Amino acid sequence: MTGTAWWEGAAQGPACLVCSGRSYRHERVLWDGLIEEWGLSPEEAGFVDRQQGVCCVSCGCNLRSIALGGGICDAVGHDGTLRSWADTRPAHSLLEVNAAGGISPILRSLEHADPIQYPKADMRALPRPDASFDLVVHSDTLEHIEEPGLALSECLRVLRPGGWLVMTVPTLPGRLTRSRAGMAPSYHGGAGRQRADHLVHTEFGADVWVWLARAGFERIGLRVFAWPSGLCWLAQRPGRAR
Ligand SMILES: [Zn+2]
Repeated sequence: MTGTAWWEGAAQGPACLVCSGRSYRHERVLWDGLIEEWGLSPEEAGFVDRQQGVCCVSCGCNLRSIALGGGICDAVGHDGTLRSWADTRPAHSLLEVNAAGGISPILRSLEHADPIQYPKADMRALPRPDASFDLVVHSDTLEHIEEPGLALSECLRVLRPGGWLVMTVPTLPGRLTRSRAGMAPSYHGGAGRQRADHLVHTEFGADVWVWLARAGFERIGLRVFAWPSGLCWLAQRPGRAR
């Protein structure tokens, strides 16, 4: 395949935060209906498509999963790839809400992994006790929750003091967050597929941090792998880690 940019395989890209590979391929995943429903500019449509459709050739992870892997390494203070962190047999307990894309097999291989699935598990009332995890991870799920603020409060509740939430959500940095209440229904998951749990309730913008601060998180950060396609949010529960 010939391309003009690293994400189209024309050149070596940045080292993948999951496996350290530097070759990428790009398959278009966005469809016209979604572009129209969201009112995306050509530039926005381009980077949203790259977020989902540009993948590391070596490990298969797309840009959002790679950013998520980097965010987890940042949260645990690991100076290396997600794979190399998993190889250290970390003692961290991790709640994975929904399979986190390409890194899910790595997360599930951890000794203290606890994967749960939305919508079977309600993110607004997580079926886990208070203060039971060092890490909570979710990826492109928050936009489907009717009350995202409540879901973030629940993530805070199940984290131990000093624990980290690591998450991705489709984000349009040139806008502020808006609710889709009262608008034509818009679904993720592919053209023509209308699963109720893929209905989008919220389009997130540059103010994602406000939602995290409001939920009670104390430290909030953004891990940028490839601006603006590969972004991951980190947020720490107040208190001292064990
Ligand atoms: Zn990789």
